[in-house]
Amino acid sequence: MREVRIRDTLSGEPRAIDPTEVVGIYACGPTVYSRIHIGNARPFVVFSLFARFLRSEGYSTRLVVNVTDVNDKIYAAATAAGEPSTDFAARMTAAYSEDTDRLGLGRPDAEPLATETISGIIALIEDLVRSEHAYASGGDVYFRVRSFADYGKLSNRRPEDMDQGEEAGSASLKENRLDFALWKAHKEGEDSHWDSPWGPGRPAWHIECSVMAEQELGASFAIHGGGSDLVFPHHENEIAQSEAAGRPFAQIWMHNGMIESDAAKMSKSDGNIFQLGEALDRYGREAVVAYLISGHYRQPLAFGPEQMEEAAARVERLRNFFRGHPLRAAGEGDPGEDPAEQQRGSSPGSSPDSRLTSFRDALADDFNTPRAMAEVSELVGEANRERVPGAPEALREMLELVGLDSLASAEGAADSEADALMMEREEARGARDFERADAIRDRLAEIGWTVRDSADGPSLVPR
Ligand SMILES: [Zn+2]
Repeated sequence: MREVRIRDTLSGEPRAIDPTEVVGIYACGPTVYSRIHIGNARPFVVFSLFARFLRSEGYSTRLVVNVTDVNDKIYAAATAAGEPSTDFAARMTAAYSEDTDRLGLGRPDAEPLATETISGIIALIEDLVRSEHAYASGGDVYFRVRSFADYGKLSNRRPEDMDQGEEAGSASLKENRLDFALWKAHKEGEDSHWDSPWGPGRPAWHIECSVMAEQELGASFAIHGGGSDLVFPHHENEIAQSEAAGRPFAQIWMHNGMIESDAAKMSKSDGNIFQLGEALDRYGREAVVAYLISGHYRQPLAFGPEQMEEAAARVERLRNFFRGHPLRAAGEGDPGEDPAEQQRGSSPGSSPDSRLTSFRDALADDFNTPRAMAEVSELVGEANRERVPGAPEALREMLELVGLDSLASAEGAADSEADALMMEREEARGARDFERADAIRDRLAEIGWTVRDSADGPSLVPR
């Protein structure tokens, strides 16, 4: 078992994960007011794969990703869609599950809904009111920020730079402009509400995560994650709510950078590939996952057709590699092995085993996926130049850790129309039927592929 370290946003230091306890990971999930986009998919992929890596190293994990299914944005979107907000939120939650299922990384261990956590939310707010960290005002309840001395420790902001981003109408109900809402009184036009000691209403946003994290993972847990846009106010407020109520809360804060898309650069024909479902339709799950792990999780990641095509080309190179270098069946020796050749393949520093070790070391060091994937590329390059015994098996193991092992499977390698066409083209070329081979190449171009012939054989590259 490796020591796995993550750079903690709160301390700014790399922190080792305790291997003796179940590693509880709570990652903030989407607010379901529309179909999710690539930006929502990034934390889903990062935290799913991080938990997968920890398990492969022998850690026990429990991953929790919540769904915010009651919120101002949901009321507005449901009204615009002419649908009751609960129906609308349920439909969008199902769509979120469907879209993220298509990533092929499995589901989190728990996916609590805000609307199913109301009694826990009310209980925590009552605690905070009793201890005077919160106060009721006009049917709302607000957290008294000045009552919590550590406020601001996560985001390191000065109070004058803090803006809770809450509606202007609530200003007159607050003792201090820094205070934030825990509970909102029922308003005209909102078609759902719950009874509470402060009258009918609904939870504000931040409180649900304090409650769900504790219900699913206990009062103290290993990792709290989410996008870096949540550091303030969302996570700062979660800390205030939970710690003011005497809970130790998260030990390590892990934030992923934002996806940055230049909408102006995207032409109309790019459609809406920023939507996860569209990106999956156009590029396939492997390219979407490969794109999302192409940068370090903490860094921002540029998004556009160009980046997606690059990811699709990298994925295609891997698919091609496995076409040319099939995996050995279990128990089968390396075919045609002669000792001299074996020795050549395992020159120091480049053996499949040492690549696999470096791959895992990179993931253990602040989950450095680009450094890990560089090991994959290097090994593919070496094994394309000369026979490297064990390379396909080591590569398959690396890819499994990042959810891309389907590229090594027979179905993964030959499931698309393009693959079938490319094989037909090879047959035509073999039979010296160049007219037919060219016609197939044109057909491939029509469906978006360029055939590139090289010493390693032909490969498909997205146009
Ligand atoms: Zn949250």
